[in-house]
Amino acid sequence: MDHRLRCLCQLADLSGAAGFLSNTRRHLHQHPELSFEEADTAALVGRHLEDWGWQVERGIGGHGLVGTLAVGAGHRRIALRADMDALPIHEATGKPYASRKAGVMHACGHDGHTTMLLGAAEHLAKTRRFSGTVHLVFQPAEEAGQGSGAQRMIADGLFERFPCDAIYGLHNSPGLPTAAFGFGSGPFMSASDTARITLHGRGGHAARPQQTVDPILIAGSLVMALQSVVSRNIDPLHTAVVTVGALHAGSAPNVIPDTATMALSIRSFDPKVRDRLEERIRALATAQAQGYGGEATVDYERGYPVLVNSEAETAFAREVAAELVGPEGVLANFPPVTGSEDFAYYLQHRPGCFFRLGNGLDSAMLHNPRYDFNDEILTVGAAYWTRLVERYLVD
Ligand SMILES: [Zn+2]
Ligand SMILES: [Zn+2]
Repeated sequence: MDHRLRCLCQLADLSGAAGFLSNTRRHLHQHPELSFEEADTAALVGRHLEDWGWQVERGIGGHGLVGTLAVGAGHRRIALRADMDALPIHEATGKPYASRKAGVMHACGHDGHTTMLLGAAEHLAKTRRFSGTVHLVFQPAEEAGQGSGAQRMIADGLFERFPCDAIYGLHNSPGLPTAAFGFGSGPFMSASDTARITLHGRGGHAARPQQTVDPILIAGSLVMALQSVVSRNIDPLHTAVVTVGALHAGSAPNVIPDTATMALSIRSFDPKVRDRLEERIRALATAQAQGYGGEATVDYERGYPVLVNSEAETAFAREVAAELVGPEGVLANFPPVTGSEDFAYYLQHRPGCFFRLGNGLDSAMLHNPRYDFNDEILTVGAAYWTRLVERYLVD
């Protein structure tokens, strides 16, 4: 091992910070804040960063903040991102540090993501073994859907005010072994769109259906017809999901209602597939409703785009992980998932990589009231971010 490699951050270098990191993570966990309400979390992050000598800019795209540290004469610039918001879920872990806010919970592990990046911030400021500029992006409102924190920070001039050559982010992953890394280049997470369909019939007495247009019949027929979109309209070698997640109509056995409403979640990994899904869903809703004498209105909303990891940056991030935890701890071709992430927006502007870090095989799934971030991976994430910076920002 040459001199330079010996100077790079090792897992053991962060072991002294384990107590601070788990206390910080548990504090954030006890005090979760919903999207657009992350004032206290952002304040805590900003205070720590300033204490450690980072230059901090607050209020970017809402409660977003960026910490910047420039060392040496290097010209390269790297951005690392963590998300800060929690979810409207009532916690059921029974942990002593469970959420103190009824109905609000860090059920996606953003408390852990924020803490790992803080761990790297402290270590980087102390060791300063790099030459160039680091921007730490603490983002609000990842869970918000359209108009999310990433979009707002970008609209607020993130990349102009804090120029970077590449941006990296991670998400913890239940079901992946503790501290294992998962990488994939190209499309890595799906685009996520929503359709809200209202089927307009003509309500009336349940005993005289001939005088009505029954929107429940239309809805039933449409649910079945929608299953043909993926199976009959999409290339079998492409991936797509059409899920009817909500269906509401009527309230009494003897009344045919005026309307029925449906809400759909639609996932895809390819822009052409994405367009085709929208086209077919609109056409089927309209034609099915008309076929039964009713009408459909379709409110189709495009959500987060496909998250596409760039090849070189992904290979680099993977290499750094293999150095840190050994090749056996790295899944080089982690399969794409049909979840979505607003990190996708950053990758539309800069090359970079979003990857997975194992939260443990027995971890409850994300967005579940029994989920908890695994504190064992806090030092791994912090050491990884540190080493990624040290390897990226070399003279
Ligand atoms: Zn989430
Ligand atoms: Zn998340």
